[in-house]
Amino acid sequence: MTTPPSPRRTAPGPAPPDPVPPPGQALADAEREIARLRTELDRRAHAMRFQEALFAISEVASSSKPTAEVMAAMHRIVGTLMYAENFFIALRDPERRTLRFVYFADSEDADGLEPDLEIPESELRGSLTVQVIQRQQALRGPSAQLAASLGMQDEAHGPESNDWLGVPMTSDGITQGAVVVQSYRPEHSYSAEDEQLLSYVAEHIATALARRQSTIELERRVQQRTEALQTEVVERERAERLQTALYRITALASRHESDDDARFYADVHSIVGELIDARNFYIALWDETTDETSFPYSVDERTPTRPSRKAGQGLTEYVLHSGEPLLATESVMRELNALGATTPGQQSASCWLGVPMMVDDAPVGVIAVQSYRADVRFTHRDLELLSFVGTHIAAAIGRRRAGVALRQAYLDLEHRVSERTRELGLANETLRQQISAREGVERQLKHQALHDSLTGLPNRQYLLDRLVASMAQHSAQPERLFAVLFLDLDRFKVINDSEGHLVGDALLREAAKRIGECVRNPDVLARLGGDEFAVLLERIRSVEDAIQVAERIMQVLDQPFFIEGRELHSSASVGVAVAQPHYASAEEILRDADAAMYRAKADGRKRYALFDEDLRHLAQQRLELEREMRRAMVHQEFEPYYQPIVSIANGAVLGYEALLRWNRPDGSVRAPGAFLGLAEETGMIEEIDWRMYASAIGDLARLTPSHAYVSVNLSPRHLLAPDFATRFLALVRDQRAHPSRVCVEVTEGALIDRKDLARAALETLHRAGVRIMLDDFGTGYSALSYLQHFPLHGLKIDRSFATALESGAETRGGSRPIIRAIVAMAASLELEVVSEGIETEEQRKSLWTLGIRQGQGYHFGRPAPLQHWIDLGAQPAAV
Ligand code: C2E
Ligand code: CA
Ligand code: CA
Repeated sequence: MTTPPSPRRTAPGPAPPDPVPPPGQALADAEREIARLRTELDRRAHAMRFQEALFAISEVASSSKPTAEVMAAMHRIVGTLMYAENFFIALRDPERRTLRFVYFADSEDADGLEPDLEIPESELRGSLTVQVIQRQQALRGPSAQLAASLGMQDEAHGPESNDWLGVPMTSDGITQGAVVVQSYRPEHSYSAEDEQLLSYVAEHIATALARRQSTIELERRVQQRTEALQTEVVERERAERLQTALYRITALASRHESDDDARFYADVHSIVGELIDARNFYIALWDETTDETSFPYSVDERTPTRPSRKAGQGLTEYVLHSGEPLLATESVMRELNALGATTPGQQSASCWLGVPMMVDDAPVGVIAVQSYRADVRFTHRDLELLSFVGTHIAAAIGRRRAGVALRQAYLDLEHRVSERTRELGLANETLRQQISAREGVERQLKHQALHDSLTGLPNRQYLLDRLVASMAQHSAQPERLFAVLFLDLDRFKVINDSEGHLVGDALLREAAKRIGECVRNPDVLARLGGDEFAVLLERIRSVEDAIQVAERIMQVLDQPFFIEGRELHSSASVGVAVAQPHYASAEEILRDADAAMYRAKADGRKRYALFDEDLRHLAQQRLELEREMRRAMVHQEFEPYYQPIVSIANGAVLGYEALLRWNRPDGSVRAPGAFLGLAEETGMIEEIDWRMYASAIGDLARLTPSHAYVSVNLSPRHLLAPDFATRFLALVRDQRAHPSRVCVEVTEGALIDRKDLARAALETLHRAGVRIMLDDFGTGYSALSYLQHFPLHGLKIDRSFATALESGAETRGGSRPIIRAIVAMAASLELEVVSEGIETEEQRKSLWTLGIRQGQGYHFGRPAPLQHWIDLGAQPAAV
């Protein structure tokens, strides 16, 4: 900013007193003195006006009024300083080289200009305003004279003015536009002082506009994010509805035996009917030897019965023969008829959707819905859903044909219980129980998406959703402050490692309870994972309020914990971030609170730290870690450790998962938790992974007997690289490994981003014979129907499920119902299931009774270097 110009000062300073006033001179002196005082008064008044004007400008600039009102107010203020009847503000877009006259008042040019109208500078060649901007220099004088001096008298723009004054508007050294006053009357003209004043005002306007622009930008981004979240929520709700329906179909289909087809089809129909318009629904079965199509189930508004037919030529047969689903509108049906592919039926539907049911790659029937109404049409989503249903019915048929009764242990049990109950004449009661058990599963699934299973607290996603709402509120009402506390239990890892996970879990639950007592509605306490918690404090009055809560939390966590007869000591480090207008996303605030927490820890734990802009410290640490990782890459410090994946029945090794380890120069070994995040962010993970893959696949022959496989983890980034699959297969080939002995583990997250790319890459791997496992299953949010889209070999159920088995005991059932549902669903989709993180014999047994056959975890073997497994020879792991 330039220093403000000094106000008008026309009078000389006070005259020295005359020692001997000549006679008659006294009056003249007095008059002079009066004149001097009057000028002085003028000067003071002017100075005051000027100061008031500056004050008013900055006040107007920071107000939340609409821009148009702010501009008009600026105009009024300038009017108190100089003649400003004709006043305008032009803004320039430097990239597009256009001007907008965002404010325009002119007595001669009443039309003005639309504030949003962008005018190319090239169309304003004779404009003095453009000259001011381009030269970054003020211009002052009669407009004709100015034009002549600039050599552009022939291109004059707008009415000629008697006097014209334009100053560039500069913010951060960049010319943003110009502010112009002009006079069409001879009695008003502008002085050098006016020029200086206007320059000063222009600078304030520029700053104000820049600030408003960034606020608007922020609001726009919050709005965008909110909208994105809203659609996400809608999508998720839909997915949840779909998921529960699919679970029910899965359960129905896997329970279904030959006894009561009609009932089975009717149940399927009613579930389908909850998701799509299935007023007209039928199931067709085809006998290949006789070419006869029969309709064991049909509900239709117009066709009361559907007799069997031989060598028919309807849409049903068309789908049967093509083996592909068909979504037919009237025009498609007409076309098929015209081509002779089908012959017209008696009732013409306005939309018809049919999917084939396949057993061993051969069509055995069709499931179809149709509509006779113009307002009911089916979509591609309906097609996907029906395909899913078709798969399940076909699986049920397939099982029956093969004579295999594929029933899960729990289903058997349930069946037997219900038999017995029925004998006792309590069939209704059983039904009620079954329904409520199923509803329990549904509720749990829903809750799980937004809550943490260990503590029952809201999870990260929930917190982020609420943060977005708080940000929107804050930007509308900046005085509504909020803060985020990020906290982490000191020493938790040590306790967890030395006392075991059960104690660790109990500690987390107790800590959650204590923290919860320090906050009140509508604050949110969330568990972000591990020993990290966050608190959203809404409606605080100042930073002090947030600090008080932080201190209270630290106090309660500093008290000893009594768990399983032991006295344990922990404490918390807290990072505090307070709402700021510059935050563009919820993640950003959380990240800053996290950074502050790290600093609190670095400063010696049991402290809080406020995020301040110079948290460079942390940035430096990250840089340091990044540098170390690059060095580690050069020095080959990364190595795969292998952990066996075994048959739960007898401990026989089925494969090994390669897990990344960093051998530090100081002899310590780091697990990926400490550096994977940064490696992902920086992209370094790709190179690290490729080396891991080369080592792991290269080690295969020495690691395992001939039938076992080696499994590697895919960073989500890989699936976005179009050549990933070919490069991976080339690596497998170079290492002379058989693709079927290589497995890749992907997470749901990796599949959701750019679904098509991911699917293409996985298809390529799958065709070559590589096994594909879905990792950490059960922690994501996506619908089960997603699984159908990818060529999966199996699922790895996240460790939290095995852990929750014990904590749930019999009362709540823990994770049992969900594991059951997953097992049933996986069986019908013919997916293998591996349970991760099995640490105890008890867990192993429980999982076995739940139908899990493969597992991994400390109970069977910890991750260890290649040599360890070579030394151990081919001995099976202990069970
Ligand atoms: P993940 O794929 O879910 O791997 C399983 C994690 O659980 C491993 O942690 C393993 O050491 C640990 N684990 C196995 N059994 C038990 C058990 O019984 N109890 C407990 N408490 N933990 C058990 P780790 O090795 O620290 O790896 C963490 C994560 O890092 C992995 O989770 C995986 O997502 C990622 N990761 C590991 N290696 C690589 C790699 O080479 N590339 C990429 N991109 N990611 C990797
Ligand atoms: Ca894994
Ligand atoms: Ca996993």
